[in-house]
Amino acid sequence: MGIRSHLAGIPTDLLIGGAWRPGLTGARLDVTDPSTGAKIADVADASIEDALAAVAAAHDAGPEWAATPPRRRSEILRRCFELMLERKDFLAEIISLENGKALPDAHGEVAYAAEFFRWFSEEAVRLTGDYATAPSGANRIIVQHQPIGVCVLVTPWNFPAAMATRKIAPALAAGCTCVLKPATETPLTAFALAAIFAEAGVPDGVINVLTTGRSGPLVSAMLHDPRVRKLSFTGSTEVGRRLLHEAADTVISCSMELGGNAPFIVFDDADLDKAIDGAMVAKMRNGGEACTAANRFLVQEGIQHAFAARLSERMSALAVGPGYAVGTECGPVINGGALRRIDGLVRDAVARGAILLTGGAPDDRDGFYYPPTVLSGVPDDALISTEEIFGPVAAIASFRTEDEAIARANGTEYGLISYVFTADLARGMRVSEKLDSGMIGLNRGVVSDPAAPFGGTKQSGLGREGGHHGILEFSEVKYIGVTW
Ligand code: NAD
Repeated sequence: MGIRSHLAGIPTDLLIGGAWRPGLTGARLDVTDPSTGAKIADVADASIEDALAAVAAAHDAGPEWAATPPRRRSEILRRCFELMLERKDFLAEIISLENGKALPDAHGEVAYAAEFFRWFSEEAVRLTGDYATAPSGANRIIVQHQPIGVCVLVTPWNFPAAMATRKIAPALAAGCTCVLKPATETPLTAFALAAIFAEAGVPDGVINVLTTGRSGPLVSAMLHDPRVRKLSFTGSTEVGRRLLHEAADTVISCSMELGGNAPFIVFDDADLDKAIDGAMVAKMRNGGEACTAANRFLVQEGIQHAFAARLSERMSALAVGPGYAVGTECGPVINGGALRRIDGLVRDAVARGAILLTGGAPDDRDGFYYPPTVLSGVPDDALISTEEIFGPVAAIASFRTEDEAIARANGTEYGLISYVFTADLARGMRVSEKLDSGMIGLNRGVVSDPAAPFGGTKQSGLGREGGHHGILEFSEVKYIGVTW
């Protein structure tokens, strides 16, 4: 098959200090194609010694990279952006092959991922500080942003390119060096990107990449190395909590992008066509495997039946198939465990009284396919209302009043994103201000934008990625009190 021919050109060893190394133990990890369930490659399985070698390489490369003029760093980042776009078809196909997402989603991810390099190439030369006279008049206050130091970047499988570039680009823009540990399920995209970044002129040791089957001990060892000063993690709240404990031992700065349970509120004055379009993108971008995916549809009772019927019609019409097949709109989920988990959530909801409108049982062909599914009348105590679905299942419940919608939307430990659809802008703004989440999509089903601060409240995380805030996460504030 044509797409598999790309595999020959992708490094599969560890990138440490600019050299591709097999890893000290020689162990390998299998990479699986979720569209077939078959092995497609194997990659090096890093040991703790390899990880500490990567930290040493990042540490050694640090002073020179930090001293590289911002304009030069900016130009290298810009070149990363350009090269990613030149290789966009190759990158999209690799993402689709190892992650399973439909090719249009993979192309969307490559464009989004590359944009972080363009944005942070522009931010690299705009990292300004402060200058003030102390209130006493006795001295001056100078504040500068310095590179925080060696960064450990840990990323999930659902956006294998974008979650890496959302961290690497601001880290490099701020003058930091890094060790990237991509998800075990999707290492090939990370290696393909690393090769491109080297070609763009990123010096040896500035970006190091490790794949491992023992993420826990390996990341822990790096976090306990005093040369590491930053952890930037994207993944589940469960693992994030554990890493915050680990990072406490060495008081490492942490940026955490964790799980979500996004409410999608539709008021009965909303334009239904726009709300359905918004619902489709908020639910089905990436086949539902997104932290921003609409998890709970809360629809005002006057339009609940019309909304559910229209959404079911659109969901059941989606073409399900291998991510890289022409015409596929919804690819497989990542693995068998995800398939069983999603099926369990749907079964639990139905057992508690939810009505199944379409879909509802895993496909028995090879690969990991769950059909686009819609449930209505989902009770608040169903597991699907409280847990992240992370799959192509829309769970609909109804509400009566604005206050009820806000209270139910906020009734979760998560606070990543909320969506609101209404024709009344005053109501939209009022509700947006009361929703406890880091991001709001007001009459929009997608908000991700490298120029905007992405992140959550409550147990959805700490810190922001993208926008101007993104570079500050990789900077340390230095105050110099001066008398002359
Ligand atoms: P995960 O937490 O299982 O894994 C994330 C990363 O952590 C992977 O690289 C994994 O190998 C590593 N890891 C796993 N256990 C570890 C441990 N004990 N110590 C150190 N590292 C460990 O998450 P996932 O299944 O890869 O991704 C899905 C989750 O990511 C969802 O909860 C989703 O909401 C979240 N996510 C959040 C955002 C965001 O920006 N907030 C974006 C994408 C995904």
